[in-house]
Amino acid sequence: MLFFNYNYQLKAAFLFGDSSMQRMKSRMNGNRWAVAIVAVAALLMVKPIFAQDVSETRLADGIFMLEGQGGNMMLVATESHTVLVDAQFARMAEAIGAKVEALGSLPLSYLINTHFHGDHVGGNAYMSETLGATILAHANVLKRLADDTDFPREGLPTETLTDRHALDLGEYSLTLKHYPTAHTDGDIVIWVDGQNIVHVGDLYFVDRFPFVDLNSGGTVQGYIDAINSVLADADEHTQIIPGHGPLATATDYIRLRDMMIETREQLRAWHAAGADVDTMVATGLDEKWAEWTWNFINEERWIRTLFNDLQASH
Ligand SMILES: [Zn+2]
Repeated sequence: MLFFNYNYQLKAAFLFGDSSMQRMKSRMNGNRWAVAIVAVAALLMVKPIFAQDVSETRLADGIFMLEGQGGNMMLVATESHTVLVDAQFARMAEAIGAKVEALGSLPLSYLINTHFHGDHVGGNAYMSETLGATILAHANVLKRLADDTDFPREGLPTETLTDRHALDLGEYSLTLKHYPTAHTDGDIVIWVDGQNIVHVGDLYFVDRFPFVDLNSGGTVQGYIDAINSVLADADEHTQIIPGHGPLATATDYIRLRDMMIETREQLRAWHAAGADVDTMVATGLDEKWAEWTWNFINEERWIRTLFNDLQASH
């Protein structure tokens, strides 16, 4: 996912508490400074990032799912190594760094990028320059980021993999697997060996229509294949960190795969009956998928993704 809306009102309430917001407002009644102070406060509520803006969920000893703004992260900390998977946006980097230091140790041994999208690699330069991380990603991620002249050179991956890669961290080891035509052409999933924990990046949007980046080597079939491959290595106890959404299970992940297969079947049926894409959008999918729509990939965008994918695969 590339964009993420933030509810600043909720954030303000979170920072100050609803009742203290009320007290603040009533104390300021009639005060000529009130307007200015509220305006400054409103500005402060929009921009600042605090360490507590990154929350952690403990999955095992030294293994955490981290959430802030943008793609979910994983932190794996052992006696000898601290490894971060994904780095959200540049504006989150300091807060992420503070959380990494609190849960693991610095310097950061590795930052692993699941793929090249901005909400997963924005903190790359900070992690390498300030926290000392070696950045590891698929070769196609390096190629796409290097081609982007706006992307800071300090944030480019310096180690790449092409298919599979193993990382020995002492108490834990990681296995990285590449899926060549899924969400993009450079997606990797990261398993913590023997712990039944996997970070699947944007190969998973929980109970939402997924973003399949057809312009960057993604395909619907490749995405489904990747899900099936992860599921083949998973069981009912596997903890799955999705790119977007809450921590999930294999049963949850199956819902996404089945939605993709069923809605694609619908598209194929419409296509075989001679409908054009605008008619498909106007007709709409089955009511049962209504809740999968969200601000970035609504039903129309999902139908057009399926249609464009169908056209490209012919
Ligand atoms: Zn993405």
